[in-house]
Amino acid sequence: MTGSHPRKSKTSSKTSRLSESVIREMTRMATRYDALNLAQGFPDFPAPSSVKQAAVRAIKQDYNQYSVTWGSPDLRKAISEKAGWFNGIHADPAREVTVTCGSTEAMMASIIALAETGDEVIILEPAYENYRPSAVFAGATPVPVPLGEDFEIVEERLKDAFNSRTKVVVVNTPHNPSGRVATEAELRAVADLCEDYDCVAVTDEIYEHIVYDGRRHVSLATIGDMAARTVTISGISKTYTVTGWRIGYTIAEPEITNAIRKVHDYMTVCAPAPFQEAAAFALRLPRSFYSSLAKEYQRKRDYFAGALHEIGFGFFEPEGAYYILADFSELSRKDDHKFAVSMTKDCRVAVVPGSSFYGESTKGKTLVRFSYSKKDSTLKEAVARMERYFRA
Ligand code: PLP
Repeated sequence: MTGSHPRKSKTSSKTSRLSESVIREMTRMATRYDALNLAQGFPDFPAPSSVKQAAVRAIKQDYNQYSVTWGSPDLRKAISEKAGWFNGIHADPAREVTVTCGSTEAMMASIIALAETGDEVIILEPAYENYRPSAVFAGATPVPVPLGEDFEIVEERLKDAFNSRTKVVVVNTPHNPSGRVATEAELRAVADLCEDYDCVAVTDEIYEHIVYDGRRHVSLATIGDMAARTVTISGISKTYTVTGWRIGYTIAEPEITNAIRKVHDYMTVCAPAPFQEAAAFALRLPRSFYSSLAKEYQRKRDYFAGALHEIGFGFFEPEGAYYILADFSELSRKDDHKFAVSMTKDCRVAVVPGSSFYGESTKGKTLVRFSYSKKDSTLKEAVARMERYFRA
C-alpha cells in the first residue's frame, strides 16, 4: 500500500479507554516477589471433594461437547430450584435462566444486551473492576455514584444521578471491596428509582452465601415488581471454591433473557460442559453446606480483622464477602500504588491499590484491599510478615 491513506489506530478507542486489570497485575507481582497473594479473591484451599468428583464423573460420562448454548437443562433446573429456596426468586429454567462463563461474562453479556451508545450505566463506587469495562464495551457511558461512608447506598446521591438517559444500574451485594451487605431499605430505594426512570437493575450477588452475624442476603428481584426489571447474576466460583471453572448465570424475565442469550451465544457459545454438570451437583448440596461456609468465613474475618486493627489499619468491618478495604494512612504516607508495591516486594503480602475500585484515579489513594479467602496458615503467615514489617 502507498502512504496516501490516512493513518488508523490499530486498536479501538474502547480498549484505549480501559487500563489493564490491576488485580491481575498485582497477582503477577505476587508471583515475581514470592509474596502471599491476598490481592486476588480466590481461595488457596481445595474445593469440596464431592464437587470435584462430580466434574470427573461428567468428563468420564462424556459431557465433552458443546452444551445447549444457554446452559444444560439440568443446571438451569438446579439454578431455578436454588433461586427459589434461597433467593425467593421464581425463575422458569426454560425461559429465564442463562448459564455463562462466570458471572464476569454474565455482567458483560447483560450490559451489552441492555445498554448502547447514548445510554448511561450507573455504577456505585467503590466497585469491582469489571463493571466499567462492561459499560464501555456496550458503548454506553459509565456514571459513578459514590457509596456512603459505611458503603451504604445513599438515596439522594442516586437520585441526583438518575435521568432520562439512565438505562442500567449495577448493584453488588454482598459488596466487593468493602464487605457491606445492602439492607432491604437501601434496595427499596434503588427499586423505586428503577421504576420511576424505567431502568433495569443488574445485580451481582456472587457472595450471596457469605454473610455474617446472622444477616440475611436480600435479592433486589424480590422487592416490589423488580423481578420484571432485574437481571440477577451469581455463579459457583466463590461458594464452591472453583473460580477457574468459569460457571455463572443470569436470571431475568424472558425478553431480557432472550437478548442476553444472543450476546452470550455469539461471545462464548456455552460455558464448559463438564463443569456445568458439576455445578448442578454443587447447587444441590445440603443446606448445611451454606451455613458452614458462612461460619467458616466469619471465623476468618474475626481473626484477620482483629490482626489488621492491631497492626494499625482502619476499616469498615465486613458484614459479608471476604475482603477488607483498609485505610493505611496511620502506617504510611505513600499513595495506594506505592504502598501496595512495597507491601508486595518488601513485606511480601500482595494487596490491591484502593484507586483501582474507582473510575477516577484520585480516589481511594489511602486504601488497599485484602482478601481473606485463604487457609488459616496463609493468613497467620501474612499477619506475621506484616507485624515484622510495620514494627521494624
Ligand atoms: N463479581 C464480584 C463482585 C467479584 O468479586 C468477582 C471476583 O472476584 C466476580 C464477580 C467474578 O466472578 P466469576 O468468577 O463468576 O466471574
